Amino acid sequence: METVAQTPKYNLTEEQEKSLILREYRALLRSLKTKLKPGDRKLIRNAFEIAAEAHKSMRRKSGEPYILHPLAVARICVEEIGLGVRSTICSLLHDTVEDTDVTLEDIEREFGSEIARIVDGLTKISNVIDVNASQQAENFKKILLTLTDDPRVILIKLADRLHNMRTLDSMKREKQLKISSETVYIYAPLAHRMGLYNIKTEMEDLAMKYMEPETYKDIAKKLAETKRERTRYINEFIKPLKDKLEKTGFNFEIYGRPKSIHSIWNKMRKKGVDFEEVYDLFAIRVLLDSPPEKEKEECWKVYSLITDEYTPSPERLRDWLSNPKSNGYEALHTTVMGPQGKWVEVQIRTKRMNEIAEKGLAAHWKYKEGTADESRFDKWFQQIREVISNQETDTIDFLQDFKTSFLAEEIYVYTPKGDVKMLPVGSTAIDFAFAIHSAIGSKCIGAKVNHKLVPISHKLRSGDQIEIITSNKQKPSEDWLNFVVTAKARTKIKDALKEEKRKIAEEGKYTVQRKIEGMGAAYSQGNIDELVSYYKLSSALDLYYQIAVKNIDLKELKDFKVLGDRLEPPKPLKIPVETKVDGPASSTLSKKDAELIIFGESGDKIMYNLANCCKPIPGDDVFGFVTTGKGLTIHRTNCPNAAKLLANYGHRVVKTKWAKNKEISFLTGLKIVGMDDVGVIHKITNLISGELKINIAALTVEAKEGLFQGNIKLYVHDKEELDMLVQKLKELPGIESVERYDAEAV
Ligand code: MN
Repeated sequence: METVAQTPKYNLTEEQEKSLILREYRALLRSLKTKLKPGDRKLIRNAFEIAAEAHKSMRRKSGEPYILHPLAVARICVEEIGLGVRSTICSLLHDTVEDTDVTLEDIEREFGSEIARIVDGLTKISNVIDVNASQQAENFKKILLTLTDDPRVILIKLADRLHNMRTLDSMKREKQLKISSETVYIYAPLAHRMGLYNIKTEMEDLAMKYMEPETYKDIAKKLAETKRERTRYINEFIKPLKDKLEKTGFNFEIYGRPKSIHSIWNKMRKKGVDFEEVYDLFAIRVLLDSPPEKEKEECWKVYSLITDEYTPSPERLRDWLSNPKSNGYEALHTTVMGPQGKWVEVQIRTKRMNEIAEKGLAAHWKYKEGTADESRFDKWFQQIREVISNQETDTIDFLQDFKTSFLAEEIYVYTPKGDVKMLPVGSTAIDFAFAIHSAIGSKCIGAKVNHKLVPISHKLRSGDQIEIITSNKQKPSEDWLNFVVTAKARTKIKDALKEEKRKIAEEGKYTVQRKIEGMGAAYSQGNIDELVSYYKLSSALDLYYQIAVKNIDLKELKDFKVLGDRLEPPKPLKIPVETKVDGPASSTLSKKDAELIIFGESGDKIMYNLANCCKPIPGDDVFGFVTTGKGLTIHRTNCPNAAKLLANYGHRVVKTKWAKNKEISFLTGLKIVGMDDVGVIHKITNLISGELKINIAALTVEAKEGLFQGNIKLYVHDKEELDMLVQKLKELPGIESVERYDAEAV
């Protein structure tokens, strides 16, 4: 996949610019050709002229005339998403109401209410983005609300974002990071959910290029270096299949396709392996041109023919022909043992299925017309509407819930009567119970999955049949939140807990009233507020609750003075209840002060902590995150939490860079795997502490079946030193892999 952003140089004359714009416009018309009905050409011309006039004096960061952006967005909509004339008009106008003098009324007058409504939706989304760039969660909620009005809004928005990603080169580094993390956090999953696989992949690759430039380049280079060898293998693999397929008389194509850089990287991280060990760097695809009524039959014929030649792995058969994914994806996937004993994934699909896989939603609708199949999309939209409409919780919580509920892959499970329920991957028995009815969820004490008794936290798998067991004595508890996945279950449990808290608080309210009046003060709003702020709580309800569960001891009230009927707090404030700190806990290494340069500020030294989740050391690519309680926390840009922090709390992110400092050491960890050989540990420790004089803090070794795995905690000064150590360790005989570990606590 070609993911290199193109930023042509715009040192063009006015004439040249004009002809460039015209060229782009004509290309847009050409790609729409088959969809144009009488009168459409005029409408598009009109939209183009309004947009060109409105953006006349504006330029993009790259220096190019602004109108090229809406033109490019429109082309993506037509060519890559398969949208038509109306969406083209909306794309051309998508930034006019937001950034120029054109009003919604103007658009409604010219193009009617349908187009005005879509442009309005697009304007609302970008409004929030521009006014306060950090409020991504709120922002995303808005996107979803608009989405349920008209899905075209979200598709055009995705095209807009894709074009911005393709032209990200001219932005400042800070902006690049923020936009990229937003893209992987929200837009790529959304594109995936809409079935736009190509757009999703390109977004992920582009984002990675900015967030992980080194790794990106490294993998791209290795892919290029191994291309010849791969092509040779693919040809060898395909040859016998091609011969057989030709004999069947099928109209087909067969080819090998490299996997995206991002997905290769994901695999390397997930399995903890090097590039060389990722076996599926490519997949083989068979495309059939079958008549609609023969699609399924012919796909299975091809499957049978392939598995006659190569042995399939039984666990890796995916049948999305009989049960398409909810984003519309249909195909048959299998993994077979190819030449030289290598596993190879083969994807079998028809041209129609392929178009759905590439163009997603829009293509899906095109084919849906005239079929009896109830649209899975419609169901999905319906579920989203339900959740959004009764959602009052924190928007960031909401976003997290949304991601796990609606953007994840799904499983299909069955009630005892055989009704099918679709749930996100990772759903548990309790999610299923809530999916049936909230009253059943609240009273659930266990379940029978395929007739076997399991706890409510049991994770479900596709095909499971579930019977819920309830008890009238049961009620939702806090720890249920640890294993539910669906937004519905989560919301219902939180509601129930709130209700429960309210009941308990009633008791505390009575206690505090008696106590205050006993002291001779008034039970008044003012005195209650005084107590709430003294204990640093968020509400009176909280105060009553803390008193009822005895987290607050009212004996302390004797330290209060009573003035008239007012309570006066004692001077040195105590904070008995923990205050909440956003962001991950910080490292204990913070006592030692290395220096950081904070860009955009005066370059002062400031206090900071190192994030526990990713353990940065000097030399790592990092950013600072302002926490509410503990000052600045430093994370690596590839920290597992980074995307979430950058996307949701952009306003609290500070650009940071390490200053050179050789006096201070930082604790980090290495995982070493190798042959379990006599003396190997000695060689390792000798290299680290003997030769390189690096301090080892701890060393654990486990040996199994001829292999050992060593976990070493050590103090290094910076990334350079660590990289050198890793390099030298890898050169030792018998060492398989040396890897830094970030996620676990060191
Ligand atoms: Mn735009």
